[in-house]
This record gives sequence, C-alpha cells and structure tokens, in this order.
Amino acid sequence: MKTPRFLSSALGVMLLGLSIGYAQEVNLYSARKEALIKPLLDEFSNTTGIRVNLVTGKADALLKRLETEGANTPADLLITVDAGRLHRAKVAALLQPANSDLLQESVPAIYRDPDNHWFGLSLRARPIMYAIGKLDPSTLTSYDELADPRWKGKICVRSSGNIYNQSLVASMIVAIGEQRTEQWARALVENLARPPKGGDRDQIRAAAAGQCVIAIANTYYLARMATSKKDQREREAAMKIGIIWPDQNGRGAHINVSGAGVTKFAKHKDNALKLLEYLVSDKAQRYYADSNYEYPVKAGMEPSDTLKQWGKFKGDAINLSLLGKYNGAAVKLMDRAGWR
Ligand code: FE
Repeated sequence: MKTPRFLSSALGVMLLGLSIGYAQEVNLYSARKEALIKPLLDEFSNTTGIRVNLVTGKADALLKRLETEGANTPADLLITVDAGRLHRAKVAALLQPANSDLLQESVPAIYRDPDNHWFGLSLRARPIMYAIGKLDPSTLTSYDELADPRWKGKICVRSSGNIYNQSLVASMIVAIGEQRTEQWARALVENLARPPKGGDRDQIRAAAAGQCVIAIANTYYLARMATSKKDQREREAAMKIGIIWPDQNGRGAHINVSGAGVTKFAKHKDNALKLLEYLVSDKAQRYYADSNYEYPVKAGMEPSDTLKQWGKFKGDAINLSLLGKYNGAAVKLMDRAGWR
C-alpha cells in the first residue's frame, strides 16, 4: 500500500526536526545568574522543543547591549532581578507589550507593568533584620523608625549604588513624599555603624558578628545562608538573625520582583511569550520558591518552608512600576543625604 502523500511529508518534517535537534529557539538576555535559572530553561526546552540560548550579564550591561544592537538584537526576552531596571528598559523603548490572558491571570496587577511591557516572576521582600537578643523586635516596627537617634551606630546597609536600596527609597517617596524621605535618609546615614560596603549578605554577617544590631537585606540572602550546605559559619550566622516585618499596620514591607519582558525587536516573539508563560506556571513557580527562596508571584502558591519560618506578612501594594518611575529621584536624594 502506498503511503498517503500528506503523511509522508508530515513524517519528513518530523524527521528533519529530529535531525537538527530543536526546531525552534528563543534568545534570552538574563541578569539572573545561570545556575538559578538553567534547570527551568532545560525543562522548558524538554517540554516544548524550543531551545533557549542564554546570555547572562549584569543588568546595566545587558540594557546597554540591547540599546546598541537596536533592531539587530538577537534577544527575544530580557530578565532582570528588579522592577526598577525593567521600568528603565521600558522607558528606553527596549520592550514591547506581551498580550496574554494567562500572564494577566497569573501575575497580580501590582507586580506587572500596566502596559504589559514586563511581568514579575518572583517576589523578594526587603525587611529589617536584627541580631537576636540585642534588640526587642517590638520596639522597631517601621522603616521610618530607623531614623530614630536611638539606633545611632547600630545599622548596617549596603551602598546607595545598589538598586535594591534605590527601590526601597523610591517606595518611601511614594509613601511619604520626597522631602520626608530625604530627612529619613539623612537620619539613617547618621545611624550607620560603618560606611556602606559589601552586599546584602555582608550586612547580615556584620549583624551576626556584632558589628551592628540592625541590617537591611532581602530575605532570600538570609534563607540561602540559613540553608548553606557548604558553610557552617553561614548557617550559624543566620541563626543569630531575626526578621522584623515593617509597617504591618501601614503600607507593609517593601517588595520587589525578578521579572521579564519581551524585547522590542524580538524575532521569536511567540516563543518568548511561551517561555514567559512557562515561568509563571505552577511548576516553575514552585521551583523558584524552593530553590531560590523567593516568594511565588502567583497568588495562592506557598513559599518554601525556610521562608515560612519567618511568618506571613503584609507587603507594600504599590504598583512596582513606581519603583522605576521614582528611581532617579531616589538616587539624587540618597546622594544629597550622604548615603554613599
Ligand atoms: Fe540579589
């Protein structure tokens, strides 16, 4: 019996697809470290047959590269670890709207761009941390109170050049205005235990080592220290640290996102959209939550057990695009306040 013509040509296409490996691809520029995202991308490729070509780098360098490459960029999707830079990419016309009902349903409105240029994929909180036994946590309940002179010489925080602090300050500008935020920043600088240096983890380590009593840091750093397989000292340091969820009777703790947007000149737009949708699937959200110690962006999904030990909290509910909108004002304000 002769093979029907349509069947043989369908087979031909299938075989061609197999012989060159993946028939489809998507190019990803990621400020998120490869180790934190690669297993997810591999899983995506295995289920969809779409190969992901990953370029990792610092967020600013990736933005610069997108700008320089213009319409010739190979990038289809951009991932960064803060809303401030996603907003910056949008304003620089490096992104385009991704219209997808699934994304709209999965990502709460406050964690995505109002024009769909970017979507949050995971949440990070930036609460106040303290050295257990050195401070009664009931006596410090808000970011504003960090300006109180009673904390003079007791606070560790990293430099103002770091976008996490810029976003925290931007959230304060939204909440209490620029003038009061500047007063706050000046007083905070007066309360620092040492000139800002190192990353978030270094602030936590310094508090654990008694160099300060209070540290400001993202929760996943504390979680990674607490669960460090290699380094017992990291685990011991983390045990000495408690978390204060600030402003629980007010605006809530400062929240930021890692997120992604489809690039303006994406050549594989459909595949970029598929990857975005995959990253908000239950499976990917679970992975983000368990391996990176971030909070799932999708409503109703539980954080990891490590994060659960620090309890539930109320997060600031401003639209995160405001962090980008007020980034410039925050940077200038911190500079005027002497926060180096
Ligand atoms: Fe980080």
